[in-house]
Order: sequence, then structure tokens, then C-alpha cells
Amino acid sequence: MCDTDNNNGSDYDNGSDEFFSPREPGLPELDCLGCGWCCLDNPCEVSHTVYGYTPRCPALEWTGARYVCALVLRPQQGVDLTPLFVGQGCCARHNPWRGEVRRRG
Ligand code: SF4
Ligand code: SF4
Repeated sequence: MCDTDNNNGSDYDNGSDEFFSPREPGLPELDCLGCGWCCLDNPCEVSHTVYGYTPRCPALEWTGARYVCALVLRPQQGVDLTPLFVGQGCCARHNPWRGEVRRRG
């Protein structure tokens, strides 16, 4: 996680688009901490493709320590994960959930 196609249309809308900062020049990349903000804010296009338009992505799992994407953990044949930018850092470095990773919903 995560993509950056954010329309704030879900029941888990967590705040402002200002937290999305996918390509800020000059800032170091920050690791994904699994805070869940991006996925709970708005399911990504991969989620839309696999599950349709749901208020909460069914692939988002809480491990007890962080959120993970089940489609990344257990890839499904024919599901293109390229839009998730896995391993390319956090796309919402200013979101406050990064400072407190816990189960949110
Ligand atoms: S740390 Fe960033 S990329 Fe990872 S879940 Fe949170 S907002 Fe999304
Ligand atoms: S498919 Fe994965 S990356 Fe996309 S919203 Fe669901 S849990 Fe997040």
C-alpha cells in the first residue's frame, strides 16, 4: 500500500488529501509502517478491480502489530499489483496515524 487515487468517498474517510505526498522532491523516502491510513481512507484501484467499490477493502488485514495487504501477502493469479508501488515507501508521510500504529477499523 498505497496508491494515490484518493477521492475521500469511503465511510473510513480519515481526513484531508493534504496528507498525500507521493512525490515530494528532496524529501527522503519513508518506509510504510502499516498504519492503514491510505487503505482505510480510500480503497485503491486494485481493490476496486478485485472486490468492486466497497467502503472498506476486504484485503486490509491487521496482524496485531500493523496493517498488511492480503493481496500482497498472498498474490492471486491475474491480479496486477503494480499500482500499489509496493516497497516504494509511504505515500502519506504527513498523516498523523504514522505516529501511532494501531487497529483503527
Ligand atoms: S505508512 Fe503510509 S503507505 Fe503505509 S499504510 Fe500508512 S499511510 Fe499507507
Ligand atoms: S488492495 Fe491492498 S493496498 Fe489496496 S486498499 Fe486493499 S489492502 Fe490497501
